[in-house]
Amino acid sequence: MLNNLTINDKAKLNNGVEILCFGLGVYLIHGKSVLESIQWAFEAGYRHIDTAKFYENEKEVGQAIRNSAIPRLEIFVTTKLWNDDHGYNNARKAFYKSLERFGLDYIDLFLIHWPGGNKREETWKALESLYKEGVCKAIGVSNYTISHLRNTLEIAEIIPQINQVEFSPFLYQKDLLEFCISNNIQLEAYSPLGKGSILNDSKLIEMANKYSKSAAQILIRWCLQHRVVVIPKSSNKTRIFENANVFDFQISADDMDKLDSFNKNLHVTWDPSGVK
Ligand code: NDP
Repeated sequence: MLNNLTINDKAKLNNGVEILCFGLGVYLIHGKSVLESIQWAFEAGYRHIDTAKFYENEKEVGQAIRNSAIPRLEIFVTTKLWNDDHGYNNARKAFYKSLERFGLDYIDLFLIHWPGGNKREETWKALESLYKEGVCKAIGVSNYTISHLRNTLEIAEIIPQINQVEFSPFLYQKDLLEFCISNNIQLEAYSPLGKGSILNDSKLIEMANKYSKSAAQILIRWCLQHRVVVIPKSSNKTRIFENANVFDFQISADDMDKLDSFNKNLHVTWDPSGVK
């Protein structure tokens, strides 16, 4: 039930693994700040961390997890394969290097960060092999359009469990969301706050005032009510707590429609639509 959403809610992936619907993104957080941010996030109830080799903080993420008293099984960690690691052998090697940097026995979710390159098929086969070895509990892709997904579905033995893409009311990718739902691929929203750039939008602020919530909280809750996994980033203690405080209200169906209508195809990160 949407009105009963909690911070511990999980979505069941097509392989039966469950992903926590709410997590912390740690792009652009480095060094001691990673340890602090994750510690605050754990205090606020987060149990899901999203990183990537590209973010150069896998070591600190692993350390933060080991420092905590939380059982590993309760934490969900995602990392991603960077663009220069495509290809069957390279991808496998890159995964094991990530695992070593984390100092963990397994990763919950391993994603192909970006669809570019002519080795996409080989790379997917490498992820399938890692999945079969049990060193990552789920595998998926990121920044894939419908066309990239169709491509992968044609050659896949294992259907991607996740597609992580930029998603917000200002980039409401309805067709992609529907394609993912109909193919049993869970959509995950990155840059849900538009990297902060959309928080001053007057229509959004008006909506936030109506619910006595912040603009960021409305954006996060909008993703959750669309059943999209969401991973807002913050390295600020107050905002880490604020972003987790989205489970005590519900956006009405009319206001969800209104937020959907904010769409203006605004990409604040990457636009993969031109990638063959
Ligand atoms: P977000 O949309 O999450 O926005 C983060 C920005 O908003 C930061 O500047 C942060 O500043 C600020 N912020 C956070 N909370 C609040 C708040 N409550 N009020 C005001 N400002 C706030 O951007 P990201 O691009 O970082 O996306 C989130 C995560 O998604 C990334 O960290 C990463 O894990 C993942 N990602 C994946 C990509 C991919 O290609 N797969 C691409 C981009 C992101 P402060 O820290 O100071 O609070």
